[in-house]
Amino acid sequence: MTKPCIICVAITGSLPTKANNPAVPVTVEEQIESTHEAFEAGASIVHAHVRNDDQTPSSDPEKFARLKEGLEKHCPGMIIQFSTGGRSGAGQARGGMLPLAPDMASLSVGSNNFPTRVYENPPDLVNWLASEMRQYNVTPEIEAFDLSHILQAIRMHGEGLLPGKLYVQFVMGVKNAMPVDRDVFDFYVKTMRDRAPHAEWCAAGIGPNQIVVNEWSIAAGGHTRTGLEDNVRLDRDTLAPSNAALVRRTVELCDRYERPVATWRQAREILQFSPAGD
Ligand SMILES: [Zn+2]
Repeated sequence: MTKPCIICVAITGSLPTKANNPAVPVTVEEQIESTHEAFEAGASIVHAHVRNDDQTPSSDPEKFARLKEGLEKHCPGMIIQFSTGGRSGAGQARGGMLPLAPDMASLSVGSNNFPTRVYENPPDLVNWLASEMRQYNVTPEIEAFDLSHILQAIRMHGEGLLPGKLYVQFVMGVKNAMPVDRDVFDFYVKTMRDRAPHAEWCAAGIGPNQIVVNEWSIAAGGHTRTGLEDNVRLDRDTLAPSNAALVRRTVELCDRYERPVATWRQAREILQFSPAGD
Protein backbone atom coordinates (compact mmCIF):
# COMPACT_ATOMS: atom_id res chain seq x y z
CA MET A 1 0.00 0.00 0.00
CA THR A 2 1.17 3.56 -0.65
CA LYS A 3 2.26 5.41 2.44
CA PRO A 4 -0.59 7.36 4.05
CA CYS A 5 -0.27 11.12 3.84
CA ILE A 6 -0.36 13.05 7.09
CA ILE A 7 -2.34 16.27 6.75
CA CYS A 8 -1.41 19.01 9.19
CA VAL A 9 -3.80 21.90 9.68
CA ALA A 10 -2.24 25.21 10.73
CA ILE A 11 -5.35 26.79 12.14
CA THR A 12 -4.41 30.33 13.19
CA GLY A 13 -0.77 31.42 12.90
CA SER A 14 0.47 34.74 14.13
CA LEU A 15 -0.51 36.97 11.21
CA PRO A 16 -3.97 36.55 9.62
CA THR A 17 -6.82 38.31 11.38
CA LYS A 18 -10.58 38.29 11.04
CA ALA A 19 -10.18 41.30 8.74
CA ASN A 20 -8.34 38.99 6.31
CA ASN A 21 -10.87 36.20 6.75
CA PRO A 22 -13.58 36.04 9.43
CA ALA A 23 -13.07 32.26 9.60
CA VAL A 24 -9.61 32.62 11.20
CA PRO A 25 -10.10 31.16 14.70
CA VAL A 26 -8.74 33.55 17.33
CA THR A 27 -10.19 32.66 20.73
CA VAL A 28 -9.36 29.29 22.25
CA GLU A 29 -13.01 28.27 21.87
CA GLU A 30 -12.98 29.15 18.17
CA GLN A 31 -9.70 27.28 17.76
CA ILE A 32 -11.11 24.12 19.31
CA GLU A 33 -14.21 24.24 17.11
CA SER A 34 -12.25 24.94 13.93
CA THR A 35 -9.77 22.15 14.71
CA HIS A 36 -12.57 19.71 15.42
CA GLU A 37 -14.08 20.35 12.01
CA ALA A 38 -10.66 20.00 10.35
CA PHE A 39 -9.99 16.78 12.28
CA GLU A 40 -13.28 15.32 11.01
CA ALA A 41 -12.27 16.36 7.50
CA GLY A 42 -9.00 14.40 7.69
CA ALA A 43 -6.30 16.42 9.45
CA SER A 44 -4.28 14.41 11.97
CA ILE A 45 -1.88 17.12 13.19
CA VAL A 46 -2.97 20.54 14.42
CA HIS A 47 -0.33 23.26 14.39
CA ALA A 48 -1.40 26.05 16.73
CA HIS A 49 -0.43 29.51 17.87
CA VAL A 50 -2.50 31.39 20.44
CA ARG A 51 -3.67 34.99 20.29
CA ASN A 52 -4.53 37.80 22.63
CA ASP A 53 -8.08 39.13 22.62
CA ASP A 54 -7.00 41.92 20.24
CA GLN A 55 -5.75 39.19 17.80
CA THR A 56 -2.06 39.99 18.36
CA PRO A 57 0.19 36.94 18.83
CA SER A 58 0.62 35.58 22.34
CA SER A 59 2.78 32.93 23.94
CA ASP A 60 0.74 32.69 27.14
CA PRO A 61 1.15 29.14 28.48
CA GLU A 62 -2.25 29.40 30.15
CA LYS A 63 -3.95 29.85 26.77
CA PHE A 64 -1.97 26.94 25.33
CA ALA A 65 -3.03 24.84 28.33
CA ARG A 66 -6.72 25.58 27.75
CA LEU A 67 -6.32 24.84 24.05
CA LYS A 68 -4.59 21.53 24.73
CA GLU A 69 -7.27 20.48 27.18
CA GLY A 70 -10.05 21.30 24.72
CA LEU A 71 -8.33 19.58 21.81
CA GLU A 72 -7.72 16.42 23.83
CA LYS A 73 -11.40 16.38 24.74
CA HIS A 74 -12.89 17.19 21.33
CA CYS A 75 -10.27 15.70 18.96
CA PRO A 76 -9.04 12.60 20.81
CA GLY A 77 -5.98 11.11 19.16
CA MET A 78 -5.14 14.11 17.05
CA ILE A 79 -1.46 15.12 17.25
CA ILE A 80 -1.11 18.47 18.98
CA GLN A 81 1.72 20.68 17.81
CA PHE A 82 2.41 24.09 19.35
CA SER A 83 4.37 26.80 17.59
CA THR A 84 7.55 28.09 19.19
CA GLY A 85 8.07 30.41 16.25
CA GLY A 86 5.20 32.82 16.31
CA ARG A 87 6.71 35.56 18.43
CA SER A 88 9.97 36.50 16.90
CA GLY A 89 12.00 38.52 19.38
CA ALA A 90 10.31 37.05 22.43
CA GLY A 91 13.32 34.87 23.29
CA GLN A 92 12.71 32.00 25.69
CA ALA A 93 9.05 33.00 26.11
CA ARG A 94 8.58 31.26 22.76
CA GLY A 95 9.07 27.94 24.54
CA GLY A 96 7.09 28.73 27.67
CA MET A 97 4.41 26.19 26.77
CA LEU A 98 6.79 23.24 26.30
CA PRO A 99 6.33 22.02 29.92
CA LEU A 100 2.71 21.28 28.88
CA ALA A 101 4.31 18.44 26.85
CA PRO A 102 2.34 18.68 23.62
CA ASP A 103 3.05 15.81 21.20
CA MET A 104 5.06 18.14 18.99
CA ALA A 105 6.32 21.68 18.71
CA SER A 106 7.64 23.56 15.74
CA LEU A 107 11.35 24.38 15.84
CA SER A 108 13.34 26.65 13.57
CA VAL A 109 17.05 25.87 13.62
CA GLY A 110 18.28 28.89 11.70
CA SER A 111 17.45 32.49 10.90
CA ASN A 112 16.12 34.10 7.75
CA ASN A 113 14.17 37.13 6.62
CA PHE A 114 10.39 37.37 6.85
CA PRO A 115 8.25 39.93 4.95
CA THR A 116 8.99 42.84 7.29
CA ARG A 117 11.61 41.61 9.76
CA VAL A 118 14.35 39.20 10.62
CA TYR A 119 13.15 35.86 11.94
CA GLU A 120 15.93 35.47 14.43
CA ASN A 121 16.85 32.03 15.72
CA PRO A 122 20.27 32.38 17.29
CA PRO A 123 22.13 29.17 18.20
CA ASP A 124 21.73 29.61 21.97
CA LEU A 125 17.94 29.95 21.67
CA VAL A 126 17.68 26.99 19.25
CA ASN A 127 19.74 24.84 21.60
CA TRP A 128 17.64 25.89 24.58
CA LEU A 129 14.34 25.13 22.80
CA ALA A 130 15.73 21.74 21.71
CA SER A 131 16.83 20.94 25.27
CA GLU A 132 13.35 21.80 26.59
CA MET A 133 11.84 19.52 23.94
CA ARG A 134 14.15 16.70 25.06
CA GLN A 135 13.24 17.29 28.67
CA TYR A 136 9.47 17.20 28.06
CA ASN A 137 9.58 14.56 25.31
CA VAL A 138 8.17 16.87 22.65
CA THR A 139 8.97 15.84 19.07
CA PRO A 140 10.07 18.86 17.05
CA GLU A 141 8.77 19.60 13.60
CA ILE A 142 11.66 21.39 11.94
CA GLU A 143 10.52 24.44 9.99
CA ALA A 144 12.98 24.63 7.09
CA PHE A 145 12.87 28.01 5.41
CA ASP A 146 16.16 27.26 3.70
CA LEU A 147 18.37 24.35 2.68
CA SER A 148 20.80 25.16 5.48
CA HIS A 149 18.00 24.55 8.00
CA ILE A 150 17.49 21.02 6.66
CA LEU A 151 21.19 20.23 6.90
CA GLN A 152 21.40 21.74 10.38
CA ALA A 153 18.41 19.67 11.55
CA ILE A 154 19.96 16.47 10.20
CA ARG A 155 23.21 17.29 12.01
CA MET A 156 21.42 18.09 15.29
CA HIS A 157 19.34 14.91 15.07
CA GLY A 158 22.48 12.87 14.39
CA GLU A 159 24.06 14.35 17.52
CA GLY A 160 21.06 13.38 19.63
CA LEU A 161 19.95 16.96 20.21
CA LEU A 162 16.45 16.50 18.77
CA PRO A 163 14.12 13.99 20.45
CA GLY A 164 11.93 11.56 18.52
CA LYS A 165 11.82 10.86 14.84
CA LEU A 166 13.27 13.54 12.59
CA TYR A 167 10.37 15.38 10.92
CA VAL A 168 11.26 18.23 8.60
CA GLN A 169 8.84 20.64 7.00
CA PHE A 170 9.86 22.61 3.93
CA VAL A 171 8.28 26.06 4.04
CA MET A 172 8.12 27.79 0.68
CA GLY A 173 6.58 31.05 -0.42
CA VAL A 174 7.34 33.33 2.53
CA LYS A 175 8.22 36.72 1.09
CA ASN A 176 11.96 37.46 1.39
CA ALA A 177 12.68 33.77 2.15
CA MET A 178 12.63 30.67 -0.11
CA PRO A 179 10.07 31.01 -2.91
CA VAL A 180 7.92 28.18 -4.23
CA ASP A 181 10.42 26.67 -6.63
CA ARG A 182 10.14 23.20 -8.14
CA ASP A 183 13.86 22.58 -8.56
CA VAL A 184 14.56 23.58 -4.98
CA PHE A 185 11.70 21.41 -3.76
CA ASP A 186 13.10 18.43 -5.65
CA PHE A 187 16.53 19.04 -4.17
CA TYR A 188 15.04 19.24 -0.67
CA VAL A 189 13.38 15.86 -1.22
CA LYS A 190 16.62 14.38 -2.57
CA THR A 191 18.54 15.78 0.40
CA MET A 192 16.16 14.10 2.83
CA ARG A 193 16.31 10.81 0.92
CA ASP A 194 20.10 10.81 0.68
CA ARG A 195 21.03 12.14 4.09
CA ALA A 196 18.12 11.18 6.36
CA PRO A 197 16.44 8.17 4.76
CA HIS A 198 14.63 7.20 7.97
CA ALA A 199 13.19 10.65 8.56
CA GLU A 200 9.83 11.94 7.34
CA TRP A 201 9.20 15.23 5.59
CA CYS A 202 6.27 17.45 4.80
CA ALA A 203 5.84 20.74 3.01
CA ALA A 204 3.83 23.93 3.31
CA GLY A 205 3.23 26.58 0.67
CA ILE A 206 2.37 30.08 1.80
CA GLY A 207 -0.32 32.11 0.07
CA PRO A 208 -1.88 31.17 -3.26
CA ASN A 209 0.79 28.48 -3.78
CA GLN A 210 -0.46 26.44 -0.84
CA ILE A 211 -2.31 24.05 -3.14
CA VAL A 212 0.71 23.80 -5.46
CA VAL A 213 3.01 22.69 -2.66
CA ASN A 214 0.28 20.35 -1.37
CA GLU A 215 0.18 18.69 -4.76
CA TRP A 216 3.98 18.41 -5.05
CA SER A 217 4.37 16.85 -1.62
CA ILE A 218 1.48 14.42 -2.03
CA ALA A 219 2.78 13.30 -5.45
CA ALA A 220 6.36 12.94 -4.13
CA GLY A 221 5.35 10.74 -1.19
CA GLY A 222 5.67 13.30 1.59
CA HIS A 223 3.22 14.75 4.05
CA THR A 224 1.61 18.14 3.73
CA ARG A 225 0.26 21.15 5.57
CA THR A 226 -2.72 23.35 4.92
CA GLY A 227 -4.79 25.81 6.93
CA LEU A 228 -5.65 29.46 7.34
CA GLU A 229 -2.27 30.33 8.91
CA ASP A 230 -0.62 29.90 5.52
CA ASN A 231 -3.41 30.94 3.17
CA VAL A 232 -6.89 32.40 3.68
CA ARG A 233 -8.31 31.82 0.17
CA LEU A 234 -9.63 29.01 -1.95
CA ASP A 235 -8.80 31.01 -5.07
CA ARG A 236 -8.21 34.64 -5.99
CA ASP A 237 -11.83 35.60 -5.52
CA THR A 238 -12.98 33.25 -2.78
CA LEU A 239 -12.12 33.27 0.90
CA ALA A 240 -11.75 29.82 2.43
CA PRO A 241 -14.87 29.30 4.52
CA SER A 242 -12.97 27.31 7.16
CA ASN A 243 -9.83 25.37 7.97
CA ALA A 244 -11.83 22.23 7.19
CA ALA A 245 -12.49 23.46 3.64
CA LEU A 246 -8.73 23.69 3.07
CA VAL A 247 -8.27 20.20 4.53
CA ARG A 248 -10.96 18.86 2.22
CA ARG A 249 -9.26 20.13 -0.90
CA THR A 250 -6.03 18.50 0.31
CA VAL A 251 -7.89 15.22 0.85
CA GLU A 252 -9.15 15.47 -2.75
CA LEU A 253 -5.55 15.78 -3.94
CA CYS A 254 -4.60 12.68 -1.95
CA ASP A 255 -7.42 10.82 -3.69
CA ARG A 256 -6.18 11.98 -7.07
CA TYR A 257 -2.67 10.66 -6.36
CA GLU A 258 -3.98 7.52 -4.64
CA ARG A 259 -2.45 8.46 -1.31
CA PRO A 260 -4.58 7.29 1.58
CA VAL A 261 -5.10 10.08 4.12
CA ALA A 262 -3.42 9.11 7.40
CA THR A 263 -5.75 8.55 10.31
CA TRP A 264 -4.50 9.87 13.63
CA ARG A 265 -3.46 6.32 14.52
CA GLN A 266 -1.45 5.97 11.33
CA ALA A 267 0.09 9.41 11.83
CA ARG A 268 1.15 8.43 15.34
CA GLU A 269 2.64 5.20 13.99
CA ILE A 270 4.55 7.01 11.22
CA LEU A 271 5.95 9.50 13.72
CA GLN A 272 6.62 6.73 16.27
CA PHE A 273 4.48 8.18 19.04
CA SER A 274 2.88 6.16 21.75
CA PRO A 275 -0.88 5.68 21.30
CA ALA A 276 -3.13 8.57 22.29
CA GLY A 277 -3.59 9.23 25.94
CA ASP A 278 -0.22 7.77 27.01
ZN1 LIG B 1 2.89 28.58 12.71
